[in-house]
Amino acid sequence: MYLFQSPPFTNYDLRFTLAGIPVRVHPLFWLVAVFLGASSDLLQLPIWVLVVFLSILIHELGHALAFRYYGQRSQIVLHFAGGLTIPEPSPWGVATTSRSPGSLGQMFLSLAGPLAGFTFAALVVAGVTISGGLVLTNWLFGFIPLPLTTILPYGGRILNLLVSMLLWVNVFWGLINLMPVFPLDGGNVARSLFVHYDPVDGMRKSLWLSVVAGGLLALVGLIALRSVYMAILFGLLAFQSYQAIQGRY
Ligand SMILES: [Zn+2]
Repeated sequence: MYLFQSPPFTNYDLRFTLAGIPVRVHPLFWLVAVFLGASSDLLQLPIWVLVVFLSILIHELGHALAFRYYGQRSQIVLHFAGGLTIPEPSPWGVATTSRSPGSLGQMFLSLAGPLAGFTFAALVVAGVTISGGLVLTNWLFGFIPLPLTTILPYGGRILNLLVSMLLWVNVFWGLINLMPVFPLDGGNVARSLFVHYDPVDGMRKSLWLSVVAGGLLALVGLIALRSVYMAILFGLLAFQSYQAIQGRY
């Protein structure tokens, strides 16, 4: 995602630069990562936090490199609701680019995050396979690949856990993020497509899609996946899109 607002600076921010891109990690990021992994045991929890950190960083790096492709500098912020990539120098308005992305370019900017995660997952699967390991895949609804467990003949439990979690987060979260619900990347892709083909009414149509898809995904999350977290997340996002329609039109 790259449309949320940046959280305020704190003394506990972790800051570094990656491939020339400034990265800031807000302290609440770690807290939420620990909370999401709270059911894990004491060995799994630090691995889980590392996996969440790496995966979200890779995702945002995809957005940042796509911005760079358009000659636009950006910075990455990891915060309590995940991550965001903010184009510089005007985070609140329309950033100036040397090459304008256009509506299909906007779609590419949104897709670049999930694509970075899927590419990383594919490289990990290739690495596991080449080194003599095995990735067991569970096909959700018969066609969505979810890497279940990785079996590495070396490295012990820690490396196996690390690789399994990395694959799970990069594939599953990447797929969730592609759902056509605002403000997920999939919601931005849908908006770019709708506005491209219908500049007058496309925005409203994409918001309605967000309401319907968000509602359906809340039900699927609750009934099929038994995930209260997914139900609440998508329920809230659907309601937010509904409010946006009421407010704008
Ligand atoms: Zn994203």
